[in-house]
Amino acid sequence: MQNICVYCASSSKIDSKYFETARELGAILAKNDLRLIYGGGSVGVMGVLADSVLEDGGKVTGVIPQFMCDAEWQHDGLTELVITETMHERKEKMASLGDAAVALPGGCGTLEELLEIITWKQLGIYTKPIVIVNVDGYYNHLIAQFKQAADELFMRPQHLQMWAVVESAGQILDAIANAYSWDESLRQYAKI
Ligand code: AMP
Repeated sequence: MQNICVYCASSSKIDSKYFETARELGAILAKNDLRLIYGGGSVGVMGVLADSVLEDGGKVTGVIPQFMCDAEWQHDGLTELVITETMHERKEKMASLGDAAVALPGGCGTLEELLEIITWKQLGIYTKPIVIVNVDGYYNHLIAQFKQAADELFMRPQHLQMWAVVESAGQILDAIANAYSWDESLRQYAKI
């Protein structure tokens, strides 16, 4: 494992506990020589996470669409900045570069990225570990929604093993190492 893809918030206005988690994760990635793959932004949790990896001597690849660079949203101090034409290409690139996907608390953008990668896993086109970082219960409602989807047979119980839920940054690497192994054959369960 060399690269960890992290989905996180662009907001700067959220509680300091979310920034603390990002700083902690940044330090853990740098210490373990794991490259951060993220959306390439300079603001909010995205910026704090990237800065914390870089400050601790780690490496960061940002993947950002051209229109966000046109708006000057990109982080200019990264190890590497990959510019894509579209949002879809950006998400595909982030998923393919990362050896695992981690979702910190976030808004619509983060939720969309998390749900897309889970959907790809259900379809067997993404088979790497997915970790949801449920800081202070932020994702409780989403986790309950997934359970309801399984209870009402919108998905199979097996699908609840597509991701691991942890409470803090310190638990992420263990969750990745112990993730339920997934392969393309599990596509058979996509049809309910
Ligand atoms: P959210 O969780 O809604 O803050 O979404 C995070 C995602 O929103 C990122 O991956 C980007 O796709 C996008 N995004 C929104 N604002 C920015 C910004 N200022 N810089 C970079 N990405 C942003």
